[in-house]
Amino acid sequence: MKAQPQASHFIDGAYVEDTAGTVIESIYPATGEVIARLHAATPAIVEQAIASAKRAQKEWASWSPTQRGRVLKKAAEIMRERNRALSELETLDTGKPIQETIVADPTSGADSFEFFGGIIASALNGSHIPLGSDFAYTKRAPLGVVVGIGAWNYPQQIACWKAAPALACGNAMVFKPSEVTPLGALKIAEILIEAGLPKGVFNVIQGDRDTGPLLVSHPDIAKVSLTGSVPTGRKVAGAAAAQLKHVTMELGGKSPIIVFDDADVDSAISGAMLGNFYSTGQVCSNGTRVFVHKALKQTFLARLKARTEAILIGDPQDEATQMGPMVSYAQREKVLSYIEQGKAQGATLITGGGIPNTVSGEGFYVQPTVFADVSDDMVIAREEIFGPVMCVLDFDDEAEVIARANATEFGLAAGVFTADIARAHRVVDQLDAGTLWINTYNLCPVEMPFGGSKQSGFGRENSAAALEHYSELKTVYVGMGKCEAPY
Ligand code: NAD
Repeated sequence: MKAQPQASHFIDGAYVEDTAGTVIESIYPATGEVIARLHAATPAIVEQAIASAKRAQKEWASWSPTQRGRVLKKAAEIMRERNRALSELETLDTGKPIQETIVADPTSGADSFEFFGGIIASALNGSHIPLGSDFAYTKRAPLGVVVGIGAWNYPQQIACWKAAPALACGNAMVFKPSEVTPLGALKIAEILIEAGLPKGVFNVIQGDRDTGPLLVSHPDIAKVSLTGSVPTGRKVAGAAAAQLKHVTMELGGKSPIIVFDDADVDSAISGAMLGNFYSTGQVCSNGTRVFVHKALKQTFLARLKARTEAILIGDPQDEATQMGPMVSYAQREKVLSYIEQGKAQGATLITGGGIPNTVSGEGFYVQPTVFADVSDDMVIAREEIFGPVMCVLDFDDEAEVIARANATEFGLAAGVFTADIARAHRVVDQLDAGTLWINTYNLCPVEMPFGGSKQSGFGRENSAAALEHYSELKTVYVGMGKCEAPY
């Protein structure tokens, strides 16, 4: 088979198989072809992975931050050297066009290893607290063995975004990719070993919604970092809370983009298209509610329609292709059903609205779709669709649009397009979201914290802020004299 790995799991520095686990078929979304057959982890595999991480963690934590950083930077270098092969694999795993994966997936993972490998030598320092003749000091300690659970939209990036800060702090990790995209994380594990990571510090096991809970509730696990949907986040956070484990939750969204009447229209359209169509709309921070000032509405929609209809949909392995299929048949069905609900509830279909007739075969394609005249109460304006479906809503007043933008349970991201810089800052200040953009959208460099508020989650990935979520403070009081007691 086209992308069959040596075995399903990567534990203690080597590929491991256990055919007793449920079969996981990896399907290439552009053709529907099975490209690899793997097995979900059995309870014995879960135990083996956690035991190997536990064994390896103490030694890894004893290395100096500079030594650990050197391994991560080496992994970044190898990932960049193999960018082409890793991107091709990511395209097979997800169906995302090679035009995207070659610039956004392994490279973003490599950035993460390079960044954390680079800052760690100075980022873990503690403080000295003078207390008269006594004093105290703090140090940052790793949490121990941590679990990463990934979604299917950015399999390699998610594995790296979790592994890099976790490993930098001296933790060991067991990572479970989504059952829909099982391939990329195994390559990351291989590369880390090649870069000099001790065996067992980063392990990958396959599995689905039945495997995840075995990891989350395991007593040897100190923390769980999940990227996934809000319903899964509630279950995982609940199970982790039962044992008071640390959690990072990177969940879903229904983020607003607000386009004011003084905005550069073409730039705002670019932002809205990036924030709805990149990765075939399968991006958590997408700005799927595009509020356009009434004065701009006609121009905005006319130019948006023309640019959307010019998007090249097709074979993801062709460098010219700008949009590939959805990740799975199930996801395409879900998106098509939302499109039908949009039509039934009276939104105006500007373009798209079905399966493209320009692509032949069994791939899971959907047309990039734009609805206008969407009202706040429509299902397509309230629920996360996770596909290339943009909802355009009208507004004419700043206070009104801020209230409407915030009227959602989600709070992942938001964007504002305006030429008035004071207004831009005033508005983002009032929007309930963890990550916000002014006059651009969806750029997530590793230097910048990323994460959500409200039901979109908590904790932050990327930047030095992520280190706080993979380590904890130890405080040491040092008595310099005799210990006094009243009895
Ligand atoms: P999902 O919630 O169905 O699954 C996510 C992961 O959780 C998978 O690996 C799955 O096997 C696992 N899982 C499912 N049930 C579990 C349980 N009870 N215990 C432990 N693990 C369990 O999400 P998905 O469909 O893979 O991904 C799409 C969702 O992810 C969207 O909602 C999207 O917004 C979100 N997402 C968020 C971010 C972010 O950074 N905020 C990034 C990408 C995707």
